[in-house]
Amino acid sequence: MKNKLITKVVLIGGGPACATAAIQLIRSGIEIILVSKEIGGTIKNANLVENLIGYPEGVVGLDFAKSFQLQLIKAGVSTVLEEVLSVEQTGNKYTTKTAETEIISEYLFIGTGSIPKKLDVEGEEESFLKGKLFYEIYNAKQFTDKKDIGIIGNGDVAYDYALNLQNIANKTSIIRRNDKTSSLPILQERVKNAENIVVHNKLVIKKILLKDDKIILEMDEDGNSITIIKDLVLVAIGRKPNCDFLSDDLISEYNNPKADSRLYFIGDVNKNNFRQVSIAMGDGMKVAMETVKKITEKEGYHGASRKVW
Ligand SMILES: Cc1cc2nc3c(=O)[nH]c(=O)nc-3n(C[C@H](O)[C@H](O)[C@H](O)COP(=O)(O)OP(=O)(O)OC[C@H]3O[C@@H](n4cnc5c(N)ncnc54)[C@H](O)[C@@H]3O)c2cc1C
Repeated sequence: MKNKLITKVVLIGGGPACATAAIQLIRSGIEIILVSKEIGGTIKNANLVENLIGYPEGVVGLDFAKSFQLQLIKAGVSTVLEEVLSVEQTGNKYTTKTAETEIISEYLFIGTGSIPKKLDVEGEEESFLKGKLFYEIYNAKQFTDKKDIGIIGNGDVAYDYALNLQNIANKTSIIRRNDKTSSLPILQERVKNAENIVVHNKLVIKKILLKDDKIILEMDEDGNSITIIKDLVLVAIGRKPNCDFLSDDLISEYNNPKADSRLYFIGDVNKNNFRQVSIAMGDGMKVAMETVKKITEKEGYHGASRKVW
């Protein structure tokens, strides 16, 4: 038997986008429930976040995530820590379903972020299932101590992962398809100066094998086959919006947003958004304030003495 709940606003996601929106809504006296697999989101993977105002020395991604986790608790946000399996719209209500819980709401914020792209080669799935290949460093880090790690990718995330492991792994190799990177110059410089990080160019992964606790990457280098053997591999070849659990109606609204909707997509889940914490937070704040305005215009202030800031 599922738990059945009713609320004004459901927010799906526990990253900066939904956390910001949740705090703004609750401060405005709106009844909300935040549903997420976990709290913190993608920023937990970041080595050092240096572009957030207020942190002159930068902040470790995991520490930043923990700080807004505390803030949600302090603000009294009701949280359901479960994975959303489906979301549907019936009339003017939204139904959000997990395995255990069903929540009906008048407004729905979707801030489910992005998911890593896969290489799509033989052996990838098996290596992932056997704990030798990871997409998120947050999950991999407990296995990287003094190990020889391969990082497949060529952008900010691949470089950030390598720097994150600089003082943990024995050796890290960035394995990239071409000989140029799209990574930030500051990250390139740090990788260049790191003694235990090497960069391999123009390698295309063809197949992945597991043998004797090692992971073997079979690759093509200008028409020649070469092999690299590692203890563990991280794949960081890009990310895509995470909205596969939406019904067809809601996917159509995701692709063609309606001006008068009560459904909002915030943060990295949006197509073409620059994927940054401050943009996700700004999205969350903006739609929270729009929603408060809509609700108060229709129903008057929520929470007698509360003010909309
Ligand atoms: C290695 C790395 C370094 C980065 N460094 C920086 C940086 O220095 N500066 C910066 O500004 N940005 C950085 N970013 C980007 C930043 O992490 C994202 O822009 C930001 O986290 C987006 O926030 P969000 O709330 O939109 O989504 P996310 O943080 O991705 O949160 C999505 C949330 O939704 C939940 N969720 C997903 N699907 C479901 C479901 N079906 N049911 C329930 N819950 C679900 C997840 O568990 C998660 O809590 C970095 C990213 C990476 C990977």
